[in-house]
Parts: sequence; structure tokens; C-alpha cells
Amino acid sequence: MGALFMFLLKETSRNGYNNDRRDAVFAKNYFRHFKMELPHPDTIDDVLRVLLPGQIEAIKAQLVSKLFEQKLLRELRFLGKYYFVAVDATGFHTFDHKHCEHCLTKTSKNGVTTWFHYVLEAKLVTSSGLAISIASEFIENSSGRDFEKQDCEQKAFVRLAAKIKQFFPRLPICILADGLYPNKNVFSICRQNNWGFIITLKDGNLRTFHQEVELLKGIQKEREVYRANTTTRTKLIYKYLNDIEYEGHNYSWVWCEETTTRLSDKREDKQRFVYITNIKQSSNIVVSTADGGRLRWKIENEGFNTQKNQGYQLEHKFSRTSYTAMQNYYQLLQVAHMINQFVEKSTQVVKLMGEHSKQTIMALWKDLVTYLKSIPYTMQQLMGFLSG
Ligand SMILES: [Zn+2]
Repeated sequence: MGALFMFLLKETSRNGYNNDRRDAVFAKNYFRHFKMELPHPDTIDDVLRVLLPGQIEAIKAQLVSKLFEQKLLRELRFLGKYYFVAVDATGFHTFDHKHCEHCLTKTSKNGVTTWFHYVLEAKLVTSSGLAISIASEFIENSSGRDFEKQDCEQKAFVRLAAKIKQFFPRLPICILADGLYPNKNVFSICRQNNWGFIITLKDGNLRTFHQEVELLKGIQKEREVYRANTTTRTKLIYKYLNDIEYEGHNYSWVWCEETTTRLSDKREDKQRFVYITNIKQSSNIVVSTADGGRLRWKIENEGFNTQKNQGYQLEHKFSRTSYTAMQNYYQLLQVAHMINQFVEKSTQVVKLMGEHSKQTIMALWKDLVTYLKSIPYTMQQLMGFLSG
């Protein structure tokens, strides 16, 4: 609860957390709301060094399961069926020395060796901007050999997929992933688990698949869509092909070209997106398929970037030596970020943000800590305090 609270309040360090918890009014307010006292950061660390990381992850999965059970996110499903789950890895700690037995390591051309930690994440992503961790798999070195991102991320994906299936056995999932993922192994895992997928296709990927797409160019189906807002006009061309064979199975190909014109100076910006999917395409669903594929970005922006730069300090070394504690802080950060995302999208906070055009979420959270350090208010007075 102490570590969770540190992340919920975006304290950014154990020291900041400790200074706040020692504030008499803060402690009183915390007790008033939670009927508990906040522990010393060293006590938190002692517990997180011995707790099995799987236990906190199981709690995270239970919380996420509740969201599905309560049908809170049903409206955001793809084709009225699938939840989008983006999969991607990110580095979160780097050291100039060997930090633990599981560090990954790399030696650069000029002989400098670094040790680091990567995690492979599966996050539920929505068009409304949520990025919620449903499972995490640490990419860890057990062989002592040099780390190669592709090998290790691919191996971790096998373990991550098993974990997702274990936590959410019947959840209809559509996997979104980048150009590292179009391969036989990933396709077969998705097929075995009954998952859909929309995976970015790069030029180098799946040569024979590309060749067949090339041969069938003449029969591609096409659809055009126009979108406009006050500053830009966008033209989108969607193309698709079905029943393209690759290694004994059939897949669909989706292509999208987006041309955005800025109304002020007529400047044009062109982007192209290509996907392979196991969801059979038609002109009715090609737009939502390509738009869904593009939601993959949310794991990087709303996910990793927010956790690194918006108060959660994903890269901060909360535990300098313990690999177990490091994983536990990571899992608790994921839980806190999920809770905060719902708070940030609540009507009250959205209203507060709308009232002040220059208000930031970070500043609002600072005000929240200030509130907890001043005299106890009622909930209604708190909202007045934050908007004033
Ligand atoms: Zn390490």
C-alpha cells in the first residue's frame, strides 16, 4: 500500500514520499481516508525484496479482470468482440556495473559494457487513450550471453502469451504488435489461443507473403475515407486482400495511406501503414482494422512514455540491488498507473482540466499532495480547492 501510494501520488522518489508521510497533517489525512499508516520506505523495501513478484502480478490481473467482468470497456471492443492488447518491450534500467544475476549486457564497439533491464508488456489499449498493463514479462539473462533484442523479446513473448492465457483464459483478444512480430511462431501462438492479431508489416518481413501480395495487386479491394477538423483535412485510402497463404495458413493484408493537408499553408504530410492480420477483411471492417492497428502506438505514448516522464519515474532505481524488489516496484507502478488513468478520465478531473487551459495533470497531482498536507477538507471542498 505504501509503494502503491508513492506511485499514485507521483512522488518520483522514496525520499519525496518519506518527506510527505512524515508531515503530521498528511499522515492524519491519510489515516482519515484509508484507516492505515504509511510505512517507512525502508520497510517497503524490506517487504518488496522478499515478496514473490508473481503475487503482485496476480493482484494486478484480478483488478483488470474486474474491469472486464463489470463490462466497463465493452463499448470499446473491436468489431463488437475483441479487446485490443498491444505488445511491446521497453528498457527501464541501465547500469555501468553488473546490477544483478539477471541483467542483460552489451558491449559497444569502443569497448564500453553496460548492464540493463527490459520488460515485455501486454497492455490493453483503447481509442479513448487508456493503456492498462494486463501482463508483464521481464526479459532476463540467464545464460550470461550477450543480449540480442530480437531473440530475447521473441522468447519472452512465448512466456508472456502463456501468462495472458492463464490470467484471462476466455478473453477475446486482438494482439497489436510492431515489425518484429510477423513470424510463424507468433501467428501460431495467436491461432492456438484463439486470438486475433493486427501486426505491422515492414518491407523486409515475410518475403513470400509480399511476393503473393505483389502478384494479386490487380484484385485489391479499395476504400476511401475523408476526415476533417478545424485545422486539417485528411484523405485515407485503404486497400486489402484476403486468403494469402503463408507457411500453410491464410492471412489478410491491409494497407492504408493517409494524406493530411494543413489548411493554413496547404502543407501535405503522407504516412503509410501496412498490416498482416488473421481477421478476414471486407470493405465494412478494413477501416476499423487499420485504425485498430495504429492503436499500437498507445503502448509507447500513453504507456511507456507516460510512465517514464509523467511522474511515475519508471527508470528510477527504487531498489539498487534487489532484482525481486525491482520487479515488485514495477508491478505496483502498473497498478497505480491504471488507477490514475481512471481518475484522470473521471468527469470531475476532466472538468477541472477543461476549466484551465494551461492546467496539467502533473500540476493537479501536486495540488492533491498540497491538499493532503493542509487541513482536512470534505470531498466537495477538495474539488473547490483544486479548481481554485
Ligand atoms: Zn540486474
